[in-house]
Amino acid sequence: MKGIYIHIPFCHQICHYCDFNKVFFDKQPVDDYLKSVLIEIEHTLRENKEPQNLESVFLGGGTPTSLTDQQLGTLLAGIIKLVPNAASLEWTSEANPDELTASKLDILAKYGVNRLSMGVQSFQPHLLQKLGRVHHNEQVFQAISYAKSIGLSNISIDLMYGLPDQTLEEWRETMEIALSLDLPHYSAYSLLVEPKTVFYNLFRKGKLPLPGQDLEATMYAELMRFMEENERYQYEISNFGKENFHSIHNSIYWSNESYAGIGAGAHGYLNGNRYSNIGPIKKYIQAVQSTNNAIHSTHLVTKEESMEEQLFLGLRMTKGVSLREFSEKYTVSLEDVFGETVNDLTNKGLLVRDGDYIQIPPKARFIANEIFSRFLLS
Ligand code: SF4
Repeated sequence: MKGIYIHIPFCHQICHYCDFNKVFFDKQPVDDYLKSVLIEIEHTLRENKEPQNLESVFLGGGTPTSLTDQQLGTLLAGIIKLVPNAASLEWTSEANPDELTASKLDILAKYGVNRLSMGVQSFQPHLLQKLGRVHHNEQVFQAISYAKSIGLSNISIDLMYGLPDQTLEEWRETMEIALSLDLPHYSAYSLLVEPKTVFYNLFRKGKLPLPGQDLEATMYAELMRFMEENERYQYEISNFGKENFHSIHNSIYWSNESYAGIGAGAHGYLNGNRYSNIGPIKKYIQAVQSTNNAIHSTHLVTKEESMEEQLFLGLRMTKGVSLREFSEKYTVSLEDVFGETVNDLTNKGLLVRDGDYIQIPPKARFIANEIFSRFLLS
């Protein structure tokens, strides 16, 4: 097990694009939930005896910063008891700028959280409003400034492009402000309109004025150019960072390695099984408190599926997929399994070979999903 993902499914506001497993914080059994999370971590570590391989702990959501100071402290203290070396690993917490008060930052730092991933999305107030985000730019600046002042400088912010009514100029301005904060890492995602979201309903009614594909592709090209010019090098389709600041946690996913998923609706990959936990909060709590775990479904990944995943996930990274690692892992060469697809994509300029690696060249990264779908074996 290389990583532990811990899901905190509470939010004080629900964003219009979000399809994560989350609920409004109010009136939820938050304390019971946190107790259950700690029980599930303990059980998972006991059952999978390889914590010495751990490289990362990640608190995601929902929003971990939706918790009160006391709840956050209790959770972090509990994690430290179960994973005593957490502070020497990459230990990330997601955060919303409006909730990231000085006291919460002090608590995160006190227990050893050493990386922040902040949901900023945009620096245009009218776009934030459209997204259903409630924070203000000033809160982003203040939180980052205070975090840096207490030594929490490994900070990443999430940005979004392809937003309703967003212009190229606005996207450029958001990137300029983001880069002026001089952070070591940035993530930038294009808006996906997912079912069961406010945006989905608007989209179906024809009331979501999205930029067209061409403009979105230009925004992505501008993103790659801005980041490169500012020495935040792209290492994954949506991620950019200085040399030693690439996300270890996400790299575990992209390298097709094992991790535990803890919490309601969390997904994990352990002992060759991909699994997902029960989603509804109360049912999750009941299951953990009666059986110590809350697994809803498991799927033993076949060799064929694992080879497909090695390509889908590995090609997300700019370095691509190592031919040597593939043949060591699967005792068959990548050329033998995917040779025809690789040749076809290479001839079309959608894949390139760099030494031992095959990778997606910059100009084809915008259509990466189409390229991934070519590696389905059946
Ligand atoms: S995007 Fe984050 S803060 Fe917004 S509703 Fe989803 S989980 Fe909550």
